[in-house]
Amino acid sequence: MLNGKRALVTGSTSGIGLGIARALAAQGVSVMLNGFGDAAEIEALRAGLAREFGVTVLYNGADLSKSDGAGELVRDTEGRLGGLDILVNNAGIQHVAPVEEFPLERWDAVIAINLTAVFQGIRAALPGMKARGWGRIVNVASVHGVVASVNKAAYIAAKHGVVGLTKVVGLETAEIDVTCNAICPGWVLTPLVQKQIDARAEAQGVAVEQAGRDLLTEKQPSKKFTTPEQIGELAVFLCSPAAANMTGIALPMDGGWTAQ
Ligand code: NAD
Repeated sequence: MLNGKRALVTGSTSGIGLGIARALAAQGVSVMLNGFGDAAEIEALRAGLAREFGVTVLYNGADLSKSDGAGELVRDTEGRLGGLDILVNNAGIQHVAPVEEFPLERWDAVIAINLTAVFQGIRAALPGMKARGWGRIVNVASVHGVVASVNKAAYIAAKHGVVGLTKVVGLETAEIDVTCNAICPGWVLTPLVQKQIDARAEAQGVAVEQAGRDLLTEKQPSKKFTTPEQIGELAVFLCSPAAANMTGIALPMDGGWTAQ
């Protein structure tokens, strides 16, 4: 079904992005990995995925906080994989503080990576997708693209922006075989969330396990974390022929969080 397609997954050295990269590679998709981390670990990851699934897996460590980092990454992917059929905008960061204490520098960094890089990546990838007559864009937004929580002003502004951008791109490509959709996960146990659990445990003087349970109980009715593997399978579905007439939507995968 997707065999032979070429994908770029931003922020795929860890967490959700890695789950999506694995799921696509398992479908025979060649993948460009991106993200930070230890060089030897990333190389082991890259070579391991290529060996396990028999596909081409490359790596580009572009920093998406840079002005056109995402555009350059797309162009490098097109050059090295021979084209780009599936763009997964996943890289993201978080900063937690009340609005009046939110440092402007953190605001700028969150907006640059979580929103502007998504725009830059799409802008660079669309001409090639249009020329080839096929493309799938999957933006990893968040439940925080549709509802808010306290202390996450920049993240929530950025994720709401991603959901809006997803709708615009969905409309602008509606008549061709290019779709643009957003996945909106609730809590997923990745390094990004582990940091928040650790901070919570410290602030409240409780064990890390308890802080993790409290975090789930507060927002996610299923009281279970969504897994990177589940999100990977949803991304594969969004790239499949069954989803060809789904575009411009934001799909929660949140254990009931946004149903409340
Ligand atoms: P993570 O910290 O495990 O992974 C983030 C990835 O982005 C890493 O590969 C990291 O190296 C990369 N990255 C960070 N800054 C970058 C930069 N400047 N340039 C290039 N790459 C960069 O986090 P995660 O939880 O897997 O998050 C992935 C996406 O999912 C994010 O957009 C996040 O907002 C979203 N999300 C996560 C959750 C959750 O509960 N974990 C929930 C909803 C949405």
